[in-house]
Amino acid sequence: MKWTKSLIQTLRENPGDAEIDSHKLLVRAGLARKVAAGLYAYLPLGMRVLKKIQQIVREEMDRAGAQEIVTPVLQPSELWRTTGRWDTMGPNMFKLRDRGEHEFALGPTAEEVFTDIAKGIVSSYRQLPLTIYQIQWKFRDETRPRFGLMRSKEFLMKDAYSFDVDAEGADKSYWTMYHAYERIFGRCGLKAVPVQADGGDMGDSMTHEFHVLADAGEDGIAWCEGCGYAANLEKAERKCGEIAADAGEQAVEEVATPDAKTIGQVASFMGLGAEAFVKSLVYVADGKPVMVCVPGDRDVNDVKLRRFLGAKSVALADFDTVLAATGANAGFVGPVKPASGDLRIVADIALKGAKGRIVGANKDGYHLKGVDLERDTRLGEGDFADLVVVQAGDVCPRCGKPMAIKRGIEVGQVFKLGTKYTDAFKAVYKNDNLEEKTMIMGCYGVGVSRTLQAIIEQSHDKDGIVWPSSVAPYQVVVELLDPDQGEVVRVAETIESALEAIGVDVIVDDRSERPGVKFKDADLIGFPVRVVVGAKGLSNGGVEIKRRDEDKSKTRIVPPEGALDVIRSLL
Ligand code: ATP
Ligand code: MG
Repeated sequence: MKWTKSLIQTLRENPGDAEIDSHKLLVRAGLARKVAAGLYAYLPLGMRVLKKIQQIVREEMDRAGAQEIVTPVLQPSELWRTTGRWDTMGPNMFKLRDRGEHEFALGPTAEEVFTDIAKGIVSSYRQLPLTIYQIQWKFRDETRPRFGLMRSKEFLMKDAYSFDVDAEGADKSYWTMYHAYERIFGRCGLKAVPVQADGGDMGDSMTHEFHVLADAGEDGIAWCEGCGYAANLEKAERKCGEIAADAGEQAVEEVATPDAKTIGQVASFMGLGAEAFVKSLVYVADGKPVMVCVPGDRDVNDVKLRRFLGAKSVALADFDTVLAATGANAGFVGPVKPASGDLRIVADIALKGAKGRIVGANKDGYHLKGVDLERDTRLGEGDFADLVVVQAGDVCPRCGKPMAIKRGIEVGQVFKLGTKYTDAFKAVYKNDNLEEKTMIMGCYGVGVSRTLQAIIEQSHDKDGIVWPSSVAPYQVVVELLDPDQGEVVRVAETIESALEAIGVDVIVDDRSERPGVKFKDADLIGFPVRVVVGAKGLSNGGVEIKRRDEDKSKTRIVPPEGALDVIRSLL
């Protein structure tokens, strides 16, 4: 391919809305272009990468025994009503009507559609196990579309669904996909780590997210160097040792703390560290207020709280609810005698046995000192649980070493669904005794377009992208420096066709630009290998070859006949 014949436009300026490097480079290198917030057009270079990632995904899915199908983007509401998700998916789902007033969704995912298909086709255990997948555009009305392809309204997803006769089979299907994901991301040149995650409304279901570790990641991950424990902060647990910052047995005393509302303000007012305090927050869980107490320097983990309470939803209470439940405004509430006699109080496990703590007095402008959580409140044995977000330095629940917190970009997820969908659809098969049994499901997503950008995020430098050879838009760029000189053109074209003949993607930069401009563009786009063919070089012994990730000093001067072998060894 000749550069002058292809639609490539690089930009000098970063797009105004780009906050992270990969978003800037995606646009500057001319891979994609914004159409509107969260909506992108893929330009030829981006399209080439997207296709290569899809091809890797496809090969690994097929190798794992999954079969490709494709289902409509437009999904009838009836399917979503069967599981109740038409009403519970919330505003993230794009809904529309056809001219006959029939309701549809633009598929944000496709469990319903696939379950319905499996139900319609599978009748006997002989047809199972079955894993089917598609690579299809998905639509989500994200609250904050941002970071380019990372969180967009329309994105390409590979979604696979497995159907098994029993839990053992479902387990096998799950791990088959898990290992396929390891190969997919590995082949994309990505280091993606499997991380335990919360099962959302699927309760304690097993699920792993695959994360690319990067500062730009939107998810926090608890990470143990010691044993490899890795869990999304939504799910991450910690081991609690001795009670920290305990002041011992004391009498309760009321202290005036006017104007000091936050723990930080009260702490500095009293000259104490935040850990001497109990942070008390009023939540509403499935419509009922609950007070949640955690050490003053910790944050409540809403997911853990919801699990512990067995609630469908939890959210911070509004001002009126806080006042009615405790008798005070937020900032002065605490677990000692709140106004409402039947307000449920729960506390983080690290507060079990805590004495001499400072809590809100349930009276505006006051705190209580010397509080013993078990002596002075109605917190009982069953009210303590791990309810906080893990922090760096917390003790690994598996091996006891201190954990670190990393940031991650979720590029894929594998999920055991059990019979949630197959029950709703009555998707059954007949076993060998001709009894009807419900199929057991798993679902497995890869964010194909997000993966494209995650590769850039993980693999770039100050000059631009550094594509892994497997997914690079072109693996080799031949810099034709003197496009008006016949001999130089001949050498460049010989190398081009020799590479094409062995299946290497090559682009010849035949523009009449200064070498500096051409090299800058090549570095920005990030072709893995650069071959410079110019009159001066040829008279000095040959063509110059270097890898994108190598320093200029590593440039090899190779006679044109030897170029092919050197390029091959570098790819
Ligand atoms: P997130 O937590 O980032 O919103 P999710 O867990 O809701 O993602 P899944 O339903 O697991 O997403 O979808 C499968 C994959 O699709 C994700 O692992 C992610 O790579 C990708 N994905 C999800 N939402 C988006 C989006 N808005 N833009 C691009 N890719 C996305
Ligand atoms: Mg997910």
